Amino acid sequence: MIQSNRLDECRVCHRKRVRKFLSLGKTALANNFLTREQLKRHEPVYPLEVGYCRGCRYVQLWKPVPPKAMFDRYLYVSSTSSTLSRHLTSVADAVVQKLGLTDGDLVVDIGSNDGCLLRGFKAHGVHVLGVEPARNLVGLARRAGVATYNGYFSLATAKRLRRRYGPAMAVTATNSFLHIPDLDDYLAGLDAWMAPEGVFVIEFHYLADLMKQGAFDTVYHEHVSYYSLHPLIFLFDRFGMEVMDVKRLPVHHGQLRVYVKRKTGSRPVADSVAQLLDAETRLGLGRYATYAVFARNVFHNIRKIQRTLLGLKRSGASIAGYGAPAKGNTLLNVCRIGPDVLDFIADKSRLKQGLFTPGQHIPVVPAEKILQAQPDYLLLLAWNFAEEIMQEQGEYIRRGGKFIVPVPRVRII
Ligand SMILES: [Zn+2]
Repeated sequence: MIQSNRLDECRVCHRKRVRKFLSLGKTALANNFLTREQLKRHEPVYPLEVGYCRGCRYVQLWKPVPPKAMFDRYLYVSSTSSTLSRHLTSVADAVVQKLGLTDGDLVVDIGSNDGCLLRGFKAHGVHVLGVEPARNLVGLARRAGVATYNGYFSLATAKRLRRRYGPAMAVTATNSFLHIPDLDDYLAGLDAWMAPEGVFVIEFHYLADLMKQGAFDTVYHEHVSYYSLHPLIFLFDRFGMEVMDVKRLPVHHGQLRVYVKRKTGSRPVADSVAQLLDAETRLGLGRYATYAVFARNVFHNIRKIQRTLLGLKRSGASIAGYGAPAKGNTLLNVCRIGPDVLDFIADKSRLKQGLFTPGQHIPVVPAEKILQAQPDYLLLLAWNFAEEIMQEQGEYIRRGGKFIVPVPRVRII
């Protein structure tokens, strides 16, 4: 599946112009939560390093881990967060309207999770099909009435599914597009399945936002790509496609939505594309030095997070974590924060409760535990849902509880 994992070859332009700028050490896989039984076994760790390609500006994980180690069973369920769930409904509404989708059209979602996005499309009467490798999520999606193929997206899969379901007018990939190590096979699959006037819609944590947020914790092995617009232009061009519109969205971590069409398609290209490319150059996203500065600031903040937590602990305070997202495990593993610092991590997802975090082995408990234990501080690991969490935890705050927000600069509120 991995086409090139050689250290010096860019996965978008295949040139040997990738230079490393961030090394976060070796960490356990961020979504591989462990049962008590699994704690006794050997836990593999993999280097977490990121490079920048001076050929096409693609920011990429240095050495991808085989997807099978990460996605056969997956514990991140889209519907768990009401913010994300609302957002996905708005994605469906926007795409239906922009592309003028009608009853007979097929919408395919790659990495369809529990079918949350496709439920939004179904409400508009279009045909939907999910493609999802995690068996546990496929079960959830099918129970919610969303037809879902259980497997990885590839050229072979796309050809087979096209024969069965017909050409796709819209193919969506929200966040899952960052997970793809073999972009050539994926794009060939897209090319095989998409209708002549079809559009590929991707949404992902935008690199410009990631850098502004100092969000080093969103670097983990599942994320093999950290996209700005530049490398995408390069990538799609190789498959006869072009970006037709882009939209920055102030949701989640700061998302970029990108609409891609065939060059032979009749839909117009919006001015937003050229404007964003200019903005990226002005931000310095085309210079290695920008990434080197980012890395320096990240290490400064990592040391500050460690000092803050250890200082509070020494003063006798109790600390727990809120939210057990994958990125929380990058933060805990890179900062080496274990159960000696955090008593527990509370998370609403039943799939994670009762398990232990990968690497640091902190127990994950139901959110109700917060008011029972009333820790002095809650480290906000799911900081992108800060507003939602603080609203839900009003009682914790009224009782004197405080939040530690770790990025871009650790602070207590
Ligand atoms: Zn490149």
